[in-house]
Amino acid sequence: MVSCMQCLQEFGKPSNEFAHVEFRNDGRYELTCSMGHTTTTILQQQKFEVLFEIGAYAILDGYYREAVSSFSTSLERFYEFALRVFLENVSKVDALFQNCWKKVASQSERQLGAFIFLWAHHFNEPPALLSNSQVSFRNDVVHKGKIPARDEAVKYGDSVLGILRPMLSALQCRFPEEVQKVTFYHLRDCRSESDDGRTVSTMGISTIVNQASGDLAHQEKALSEHLVHLAEWKRLAGGAKG
Ligand SMILES: [Zn+2]
Repeated sequence: MVSCMQCLQEFGKPSNEFAHVEFRNDGRYELTCSMGHTTTTILQQQKFEVLFEIGAYAILDGYYREAVSSFSTSLERFYEFALRVFLENVSKVDALFQNCWKKVASQSERQLGAFIFLWAHHFNEPPALLSNSQVSFRNDVVHKGKIPARDEAVKYGDSVLGILRPMLSALQCRFPEEVQKVTFYHLRDCRSESDDGRTVSTMGISTIVNQASGDLAHQEKALSEHLVHLAEWKRLAGGAKG
């Protein structure tokens, strides 16, 4: 749910009017409120956070294959995020990452290889990865048409969460400036020429893999607990809509 930022600026308090939007690839949410303001809100969350969230919604909606696929892709996009952070640490400009990424952009095995070695270089230990059985489960679902049960999809999501969250915390702890810089690059990349003359604001949301406040209890929650909250949120949002 997104509200009008121009109303907030003009009236000094958030309006009670919310637009229901769907997750977008470009991270841009354009809306026109009942006062006629056309504004753009850019979602601060990285792709891997949004993809994990989409996987959770897929479970709630009963699409378990799609959930497994989104969780897998979330992890792959986290590797990309981490690589960008590592290269920011070395070069302090995004061009080095962009140049290297071009060479591996369509080969996920190469990306994983780069991630394993750069992680080991910075943390002096190999990164936690999915087990062989989790990887073959994912391949069966994504490539061979296996139809997983709900509990299998939740278990797989928990496995992804279990390795992704500690690695994200480690990155935030060791490279706070670089993480901030990569967030800035992300917001910059979401800007468009059509923004000229419009109110453009950024919005951060709390997601399952990451919470801005660094709430530790949130960090330790299993996916099944998050699903309960998400279902409640979905019900409230649906009610507000109808
Ligand atoms: Zn407005």
